[in-house]
Order: sequence, then structure tokens, then C-alpha cells
Amino acid sequence: MLDLTVKYLKEQYKINDETLDLYSKAMEDIKGEFEIYDEIREYNQFKVLKALQEERISDSHFTNSSGYGYGDIGRDSLDKVYARIFNCESALVRPHFVNGTHAIGAALFGNLRPKDTLLTVTGTPYDTLHNIIGIEVEENIGSLKDYGVNYKQIDLKDGYFDLDKIAYELKNDPSIKMVHMQRSTGYGWRNSFNIKDLEVAISHIKSIRQDVIVFVDNCYGEFIETLEPTDVGADLIAGSLIKNIGGGIAPTGGYIAGKEECVVQSSYRLTIPGIGGECGSTFGVMRSFYQGLFLAPHVAMEAVKGAVFCARIMELAGFEVLPKYNHRRSDIIQAVKFGNEEKLIAFCKGIQKGSPIDSFVECEPWDMPGYKDQVIMAAGAFIQGSSIELSADAPIREPYIAYLQGGLTFDHAKLGIMIALSKVLEIK
Ligand SMILES: *Cc1c(COP(=O)(O)O)cnc(C)c1O
Repeated sequence: MLDLTVKYLKEQYKINDETLDLYSKAMEDIKGEFEIYDEIREYNQFKVLKALQEERISDSHFTNSSGYGYGDIGRDSLDKVYARIFNCESALVRPHFVNGTHAIGAALFGNLRPKDTLLTVTGTPYDTLHNIIGIEVEENIGSLKDYGVNYKQIDLKDGYFDLDKIAYELKNDPSIKMVHMQRSTGYGWRNSFNIKDLEVAISHIKSIRQDVIVFVDNCYGEFIETLEPTDVGADLIAGSLIKNIGGGIAPTGGYIAGKEECVVQSSYRLTIPGIGGECGSTFGVMRSFYQGLFLAPHVAMEAVKGAVFCARIMELAGFEVLPKYNHRRSDIIQAVKFGNEEKLIAFCKGIQKGSPIDSFVECEPWDMPGYKDQVIMAAGAFIQGSSIELSADAPIREPYIAYLQGGLTFDHAKLGIMIALSKVLEIK
């Protein structure tokens, strides 16, 4: 860091000496970690470019359809670009998915029928899926459970797939129609699953039941490795465009990709049977979807670098982190355990202070729709709630873990984390 920068951080941001000292140590320690991520980024950038070139994307694909949106070539071609990138038959990329939860919900509702069973094999699913599935929800909200779709869950064993239990369930319960797995940690104290792990689990499942649909929640995972779940046998995946794959540019939306039959069934739940993906005007967002996709391999790795830095500096400051800085990642999430509510909240407030947008507001815990515990969210983003932009969320529950992710630029992540750590270190 330039002397000028150090002086600037002290004077303008009141970063304390202890934090600056830890910064230098952390940067020294993580230097060697970036090479592999840079190589993955390079590969994925080439992959995205090839897909855009193969589909002959031009200015005329930046459509601005209205009404029914019939024949929106920007929309239809982007589906094909995504299908190429994910090495699968079909994709559905839409601004009409209000978030990742909605895309996942459409995939589940579209492919499951009454009396079918959904089997989760990565433990408790992401919080917002509980309402979709009907886990511990009382009222009649039209969850899968309300429609007579059963649910079974297999917890992780030592942080890994419990292959024996999975085999047992698949052999003994013919009602299992879909297996759900979550690549990212979500709000969980565990590692993300890398593509190799997913491949082993998927082949195991397919060797027992070829017909079962393997669905992977791919949120936060796109472009962190050279392969995606659909490269290793997943039938269906879904994710959010205000995470990795939107590149920080897509203003909203979600995607589903995989086997054509599964994607078509999902499309009937995005819109309605008989309409599917053939309708839906795109309000002029297509340019941002394409440009975001183009930038996504780069941006996702900026976020990974921020996470690696966070892991090391917070560990040096004495906090338990997951994953550690030198652990190979498959998502962009960094968990930091504070064991203390005050420090957790101070950290999130610090991230907010370093934001380009809304840096002057104090974030507070609130009852977020779809989440059981109160959640504090630091998100000073250009796009509301975008978590490919630097953000930190934490459910207010023991042991007070903050989940940090994103950062369109690594430098921004460094600043936010330094401000946050400075604040945490001031609490004695
Ligand atoms: C973000 C996320 C989702 C979907 O969340 P949205 O906020 O609705 O986009 C689902 N699963 C996982 C693992 C996630 O990280």
C-alpha cells in the first residue's frame, strides 16, 4: 500500500493501526492464492465470449419488447447463450423472476406433482426455500406441502454427502422424484461443495435411480470453477441475476438451466401452462443482461478475492472463519463467527459505511420476508439487495455469524472490510 494510501485511510476513514497492520500481514499471506482464481476467470471469460460469438449477438439483440413479448430475439438468444455456457439443452433467463428464490421455486413447482417426494441431500435448505417446501410453515400458503408434495431431508455427514443414507432412501422410496442439493453454504456454517463433490454425489444418485431429477441450487456458484453443475450431470439448476452471473449490471432477474423437459416444466410455473417462456416482454433490460454476463467471470473473481482477504484478516484478528483463506472455494461467501452480537452488528455497520451508496445510513436488524430470525443486511448497493456487490448479512442468532459476499472491485471489498474490522476492534 502506498504511504499516501495509509495516510488517507487513517485521516479519512479513521482506520486504526491494528487494522492496518493486519492488512499488510493478510495481503502478504494471500498473495499466492490468486493465481488459480485468475486462471479460472480467464477460462470462464473465454467461455462466455465464445457463447456470445456462437449465438452471433449483435445490437439488435438489445430488444425492448412490450406487451406479450412475442419473438423477443434478445430474450430467446440469451437463453441459448446461457445454455451454451452451462453446457446443457435449455435455459430460461428472465427479468420476471423476482429473485433466486422465485427461480428455484418455479423449478420445484414445475417439476414436482402431488404424491412426489423432494429429497434434500445437503441438510437444511436455504432459509427462503422453507416456505416453498413447507418446512415448519403452518398456514395454507400454497407451499409444495399444501399441494401434497412430500419432503425428506438428509443431513450432511462430517460436512459431506451421506452417500449411504442417500442410497437407502433412493432404493426404498420410489416416490422420490427430485433430489435437491445446494452448492453454496447459504446461511450455514459449512464449506461450499465444489464441482468434484457434486459430481461424485450426482453419479452416485444416478447409478441408483437414473430417472430422478437432480436439481442444484447454484446461487453464488457461477464462474467460481471452470465447470458448472450441469457439466457433471445435474438435470436442472437455478440462480439469481443479482448475484454472480448478472455481473453487477443486471438490475434484477433469475435463471433456470438444464434438460429441456425440466426447463419447459419450470417455465409453466414462471408464467402458466401453455405459455411458458414464449411470452414476457423485457422492458429494455436485455443489454444489461448481456453486458453483465460478459463481465461476470471477472466480477465473480473480484468477489472471491474479497472473500479470501476477509478470511485471512479476520482470522489474524482472532475470529473463526469458514472457509479459510487457502481453502479452494466454489462460491463467493465468507462466514465469520463473532460469538457476540455487538461485534457482529458493528462489522455489518462497517461494511455499510464503506459502501458507494447509502454509506451514511446505519443498517439495523429487521424482520425480512422469508426469513425466520431477524436479519441485519449491510448492502450499500447500486442495485437493491444485490449480493454480488459487497454485502454482509447475518441472521441475529447464536453463534452470531456474518456472511460476507461480493464486491464489484476487490479494492472496495478491502476498504469495507478494513472499516468493519476497525469498528469491531474498538469493542473491548
Ligand atoms: C441467495 C440464495 C438463494 C436465493 O435468494 P434470493 O435472495 O431470493 O435471490 C437461494 N439459495 C441460496 C443458497 C442462496 O445463496
